[in-house]
Amino acid sequence: MQIFSKKNIEAAKTDIEAAKKVVITAHLNPDGDALGSTLALYNFLKDKKECHVVYPNNIPDTFKWMPGCGDIIIWDNEQAHQIVAEADLMFLLDFNTASRVDKMQKIVEESSAVKIMIDHHPNPQEGLCKHVFSDPEAAAASELVYLFCKECGYDLSIDSARCLYTGIVTDTGCFQFNCTTQRTFQVAGQLAAFGFDRSEIIHHIYDSYSEGRMRLMGYVLSKKMVVFPQYHAAYISLTKAEADQFDYRVGDTEGFVNLPLCIQDVEFSAFFMERDGLIRCSFRSKGDFKVNTIAERYFNGGGHDNAAGGKSYKPLEEIVQRFVSLLPKVTRPLVKKDKRKK
Ligand code: 5GP
Ligand code: MN
Repeated sequence: MQIFSKKNIEAAKTDIEAAKKVVITAHLNPDGDALGSTLALYNFLKDKKECHVVYPNNIPDTFKWMPGCGDIIIWDNEQAHQIVAEADLMFLLDFNTASRVDKMQKIVEESSAVKIMIDHHPNPQEGLCKHVFSDPEAAAASELVYLFCKECGYDLSIDSARCLYTGIVTDTGCFQFNCTTQRTFQVAGQLAAFGFDRSEIIHHIYDSYSEGRMRLMGYVLSKKMVVFPQYHAAYISLTKAEADQFDYRVGDTEGFVNLPLCIQDVEFSAFFMERDGLIRCSFRSKGDFKVNTIAERYFNGGGHDNAAGGKSYKPLEEIVQRFVSLLPKVTRPLVKKDKRKK
């Protein structure tokens, strides 16, 4: 495939070989794919070079079992600044623009390190990285990191394979989302050949919830979900006070945005939550209805066609109001499709 042309791979490999101090980073609020892609590469490089994974913020408990997770350095840590400042090679995984690393944006942008981006979000920031391996058709950055390593001839360990499989499973919702392609299954199949326990990974991610998270899910579904059948849309909003009643921990609302899509004919879903002094917005859709353009245009964000996010510093009610008032306009393609069906 084009992005992994021999020339591009050789050029990246030469820079990797020459590097002495490597930093691997991923986007704010790291998910399974951010962790999977970074830790896979970390587990490969850590015995060969000085290598650190540095994230802008905390890791959800759900992923703390992942090999190498204990070594991750969070930006608040005193050493983090020096480690990033001294890096001569940086991997930017699972994100496309420097703003996605939040407080680390400036240091990443201004760093003189050789930067390599491996990512699956559309429109990678121009001029940020020397080497860009970007493919929006990929289901996960982990899928691309696997292909990158394969093209480089790197021998991955079983630990790296577990990490990459985790990234693919989480970004595809266990192979159910549209983004899952034949190639995704091929990569997953090649990873499965390493022989790790796949059901253990699923167990860690999907059957290890805290009681608080489970009850919070029940609460949002029964009390906070608002459905607009006429627009094929639904949203859930959550205040910090509500989340705290359920002993909220980072990661507890992961996947909540997908829940309304389980309703027949709901094809567009949103989740708004007060968190870290702002409102985090998440959007999901089924089929060919694009949510990244909505996130970009109205909610200061972006993302993939079927999974996007954004943020706002306005009060939660105002954001919700804005979303509701946008519905007649933005859901036109869904409503039109409805008329055609009749
Ligand atoms: P989530 O809803 O899981 O937080 O994010 C879903 C996807 O939306 C992410 O994989 C990322 O591509 C994108 N995304 C989330 N938040 C933001 C944001 O603030 N800005 C941009 N550009 N993309 C975001
Ligand atoms: Mn991803």
